[in-house]
Amino acid sequence: MSLDIQPLNLPGIDSGRPVVIAGPCSAETEAQVMTTATQLHEAGYKIFRAGIWKPRTKPGGFEGNGIAALPWLRRVHEELDMLTATEVATAEHVRAALDYGVDILWIGARTAVDPFAVQSVADALAGEDIPVFVKNPVNPEIDLWQGALERVNLAGIKRLGAIHRGFSYYERNIYRNLPMWHIPVELKKREPELPVFCDPSHIGGKRELIAPLCQHAMDLGMEGLIVESHCDPDSAWSDAAQQVTPATLKSIVDQLDIVSLSDLG
Ligand code: PEP
Ligand code: MN
Repeated sequence: MSLDIQPLNLPGIDSGRPVVIAGPCSAETEAQVMTTATQLHEAGYKIFRAGIWKPRTKPGGFEGNGIAALPWLRRVHEELDMLTATEVATAEHVRAALDYGVDILWIGARTAVDPFAVQSVADALAGEDIPVFVKNPVNPEIDLWQGALERVNLAGIKRLGAIHRGFSYYERNIYRNLPMWHIPVELKKREPELPVFCDPSHIGGKRELIAPLCQHAMDLGMEGLIVESHCDPDSAWSDAAQQVTPATLKSIVDQLDIVSLSDLG
């Protein structure tokens, strides 16, 4: 099937610059959320991300504050007039996020591998009009990614996007997750209307790689970026090495060259 989608209608989408979704890996404390969001807002960003439920590889890490953090996102929306975005992995997550007025949802890479999990998230989204992004599954299987997008779309979600966050790889590599750029390119070939965003944070795993990965995504014509940004990256409770301050993010994004062959003629 091909997807039946409508424009995402997010702030900045027709600006000729990438749409940027920025914020910490995890919503750690109310102060960290409000400080980071305020700095991002001052830097001109309009869409705030923060993980509430965190899928950790091993038990014992910070697994997110859960529902207790949802009022913090609501404060970001109300006080800073930003859209808020978080990851949902279960039907309960979807219901809680919708109850608290989260504006944008995404399905994470570990959930996208499981058609049962994706289907139950999709069922919980039925009848809602909210932008939903589906990250690529951790394994490089384009049909699984496309299938997850189809499940969400068949539930009636038309404001749909894909997020490329790279693929797990056993051998050591400079990347945390191999980009395998040909996979999002192939997805775009199959679904030309589908907006594809890049998540350089989870591809790179370290902050030095954010700028070149963002530039590569722009060179491929990707529509947006989702980047982890924290007011004090080194003390982040998850993914510290890959987070950047709002000021660093702004300098990276402002320096991106956005050109396409059609501009050269
Ligand atoms: C995240 O965006 O915080 C996250 C957990 O990402 P991924 O699902 O890509 O690992
Ligand atoms: Mn993260």
